[in-house]
Amino acid sequence: MNFVAQALNLNPLAAKRLEERNILRKAIIPHDFFSDVIDAFKLDKKFGEFEEGTVIARTTNGLEVVRGYPKIRRALTLFPTLKRHFKRDVVIEEKMNGYNARIVYFGKNIYAITRRGFFCPYTTEKAREMINESFFKDHPSLMLCCEVVGSESPFVVKDVYGKPIDFYAFDIREKKTNRAMPIEFKEKASEEYGFNIAPILEVCDKKVAHLRCREIVEKLGGEGREGIVVKDPRMEIPPIKYTASQSNASDLNYAFRFFNDYAKDFMLSRIVREGFQSFEFNESEAELEERAKRLGMAILKPMVESISKVAGGEKVTEDHKLRFKSREVLELFKLQLKKMGVEAEFSEPYFEDGYHVLEFSRVMVSTTDKISHLLKGNLW
Ligand code: ATP
Ligand code: MG
Repeated sequence: MNFVAQALNLNPLAAKRLEERNILRKAIIPHDFFSDVIDAFKLDKKFGEFEEGTVIARTTNGLEVVRGYPKIRRALTLFPTLKRHFKRDVVIEEKMNGYNARIVYFGKNIYAITRRGFFCPYTTEKAREMINESFFKDHPSLMLCCEVVGSESPFVVKDVYGKPIDFYAFDIREKKTNRAMPIEFKEKASEEYGFNIAPILEVCDKKVAHLRCREIVEKLGGEGREGIVVKDPRMEIPPIKYTASQSNASDLNYAFRFFNDYAKDFMLSRIVREGFQSFEFNESEAELEERAKRLGMAILKPMVESISKVAGGEKVTEDHKLRFKSREVLELFKLQLKKMGVEAEFSEPYFEDGYHVLEFSRVMVSTTDKISHLLKGNLW
């Protein structure tokens, strides 16, 4: 593990602290599919300037550090938050709802790393198929920070984006320093190398941003899309995120379906967002009622469904279907899910239209057990 200290440029004392605090974990399952990586670790917590999910890898091309994707702070009210935070112009981008993957190039291949710092076999296979590696040949020090969206997602299943699975770059950053390239660079690169970027919806003066954002967010919400991320054109000021009411409701729907597996804070923060949005949008009685109904249904309906399921002798699960080109990568992905601590029941893989298909149900153990316990007559 000496190479980690070396790559992070730590003095011996800091290196020792890193070990004592036990925040380094293996980031990769050794396999031919990952042949350019000799060994890799990830940070399980923020350490000094290094974000959680930072990866330190020994590759066939030498040591590599891939910084974790930084947290994006959230505005609870658009005004005066945006006006206070930004300098002059702002860029309003769509916030896509999938999972975060950093795409890098090591040795002779593309690799996809999850937010927490795992090399994901499924995402890597898709990235190698869908992303043009010439970008990395021209810019070896950069990574593409992408949202991976679609219905064939191992983590966040959404139907609204058209394709079963797709990559949208939202930031281009230096792997080692996390310095973000200006938005213009991202737009040009997307044209030149042919990758998608998260839609840039508007560029405007920060003084009117709250008005434009409200309009955009209401429209996106109606289309089942998540919300926006507001950015500085030069990416010198940290971005801010803001989401649609429908998306908050959809998160709550998910969280209450699995109410005992989710942190109370996840639920509370989404309810509080609705309070601030309703206040800021100065809603009529009818609009407030619509919001209240959406919020209430998002909380109650999935809970009742989960209770019925367990009452009927079933488990509470989240179901996924993924397609792989390679059967070996499929098996590797199953191992990876275990490593990530996901409790899943797998179907027997089958071959269909040129793909190995894996179906799995993620079992929400805590929620299932809690409901079952209560239904037997036990007390909360
Ligand atoms: P965070 O830890 O960043 O606060 P989180 O893990 O709770 O966030 P989200 O609330 O989904 O996640 O918000 C941040 C995430 O949004 C980013 O990590 C990224 O994956 C995703 N995202 C989608 N579209 C964009 C975009 N256009 N710009 C930046 N991030 C985006
Ligand atoms: Mg997200």
